[in-house]
Amino acid sequence: MAAHQEKKPSEERKRRTAQNDTGTAQVQWGRAWEVDWFSLASILFLLMFAPLIVYYFIMSCDQYQCSLIDPLVDLFTGKKHLSDIWDKTPTLTYRAAGIYTLWVAFQVVLYVFLPDFCHKFLPGYVGGVQEGAVTPAGVVNKYQINGLQAWIITHVLWFANAYYFHFFSPTIIFDNWIPLLWCANILGYAVSTFAMIKSYVFPTNAKDCKFTGNFFYDYMMGIEFNPRIGKWFDFKLFFNGRPGIVAWTLINLSYAAKQQELYGQVTNSMILVNVLQGIYVLDFFWNEAWYLKTIDICHDHFGWYLGWGDCVWLPYLYTLQGLYLVYHPVQLGVANAIGILMLGLIGYYIFRMTNHQKDLFRRTNGNCKIWGKKPEYIECSYMSVDGTKYYSKLLTSGFWGWARHFNYTGDLMGSLAYCLACEFEHILPYFYIVYMTILLTHRCIRDEHRCFSKYGKDWKRYTTAVPYRLIPGIF
Ligand code: NDP
Repeated sequence: MAAHQEKKPSEERKRRTAQNDTGTAQVQWGRAWEVDWFSLASILFLLMFAPLIVYYFIMSCDQYQCSLIDPLVDLFTGKKHLSDIWDKTPTLTYRAAGIYTLWVAFQVVLYVFLPDFCHKFLPGYVGGVQEGAVTPAGVVNKYQINGLQAWIITHVLWFANAYYFHFFSPTIIFDNWIPLLWCANILGYAVSTFAMIKSYVFPTNAKDCKFTGNFFYDYMMGIEFNPRIGKWFDFKLFFNGRPGIVAWTLINLSYAAKQQELYGQVTNSMILVNVLQGIYVLDFFWNEAWYLKTIDICHDHFGWYLGWGDCVWLPYLYTLQGLYLVYHPVQLGVANAIGILMLGLIGYYIFRMTNHQKDLFRRTNGNCKIWGKKPEYIECSYMSVDGTKYYSKLLTSGFWGWARHFNYTGDLMGSLAYCLACEFEHILPYFYIVYMTILLTHRCIRDEHRCFSKYGKDWKRYTTAVPYRLIPGIF
């Protein structure tokens, strides 16, 4: 760990509101203690409308060839009523419930009962038991990192069953897409509700719980920081990575298989989407240990935002390009295809290298080289709620000297590449870049607010040294 600690007198440890070495109050390390009206309004909006947004997108592909405008036109002109659209929507089926239950149960088994062996033979891969970051209560959790192994086993079984044993069709996901949506919703709501009850009745670490007193905020943003069942079943790591992200590449493969079935070929745009998103997913699992230090695991509490989001929002909305290409099989010209591939790969390179630079810098406590030179950084300090003082460093060279979140910039370039592969006939595939821009910009602001609360004046020194957030000279 990069942070070293220094004990404080016991009476100081009793204080819930800690101070950093600059004397700045640090009440908001982690998610908020108090809810403002804007946050509450946003949360109520999302709780009410996010499930409808997902339904609307998927329904518009199923009934309107992915047009987002036509359903509204039909409704406003009275050509159709809501009940007509609803009646045409496939319902929950036993088959989908069976597939989904088997899927989630299989991922649980892979996660809990199969300790990682990939790190034993893959050079450079960090797997097995790893430590997370220090929580606000000063706890350091251990995690079983075996996502890459789960991804490989799942995909080998998928190919074997779909193409060799023919136990199921490779289009099985596409063919059951809406019935599976109901199953994903049931799990998303069940796990978020369970997490909320658990935080009152048997929290894993009571000191890392945050109760704002506002039911909706607590339900949405979570109360427990790291809810667990038993020693290893960590809700955040499991739901964030599997079943959603393992499924991402399978969903895309199912879309490609559907194109093959419908049109007798797989278009180059579908291959591009499969390859670029496949790289992103594989990168996620290859770097799962690094992921323990990202905001989702380090700072977010586990509520509906992560529980439902990982079960429904991620698998359904992050895969819209592939779904769209089933209905609109775009064949790109060679120059366009190469341009999109380059944009996606450069974006990925920036995303990965920026994340890698921070990870290397933090892991070695600054004893490393960034772009061939000794790293430049700002020394900073903070305290956990028990009054223990920690020291850390903020990197100001490499990509981290260009902008404070250049990893997000790379991510956005990659996201744009997926969308461009669908050309410009419909807006639906562009939802992803719009959403990611909002998500990552909001994340910048949220993260910087938290870092300021954590590091106080040291954070100000950092933002003076690196004044831009995403695009040097602009924002
Ligand atoms: P970062 O990896 O940028 O982590 C931010 C944290 O890093 C800060 O809270 C701070 O934590 C530390 N930090 C900030 N500046 C510095 C610095 N200069 N030197 C050292 N440490 C610093 O953000 P995320 O966790 O949000 O994102 C990780 C990746 O995941 C990104 O590439 C992002 O694009 C991607 N992502 C993708 C999403 C998707 O849906 N596809 C969603 C969210 C993220 P500390 O308290 O340790 O100092």
